[in-house]
Amino acid sequence: MKCGDTDEIDIEATVWIRVTEDGTDADAGSDGHHEYTPRSMASCGSCGHTERLYAFEPKGGAA
Ligand SMILES: [Zn+2]
Repeated sequence: MKCGDTDEIDIEATVWIRVTEDGTDADAGSDGHHEYTPRSMASCGSCGHTERLYAFEPKGGAA
């Protein structure tokens, strides 16, 4: 963890979206869930630091 603020972390997640005639609809997917792992990229909205998600976790960093 590079900074003490863990309330403003954005995570790069995989989102399933439905393809429609007009384009795509992020809300129409069969389950609408999004996926991310400890190895997903994450960005701190507070200081702008970008690193893999596990690095932001208190016990992370060793992977
Ligand atoms: Zn930060």
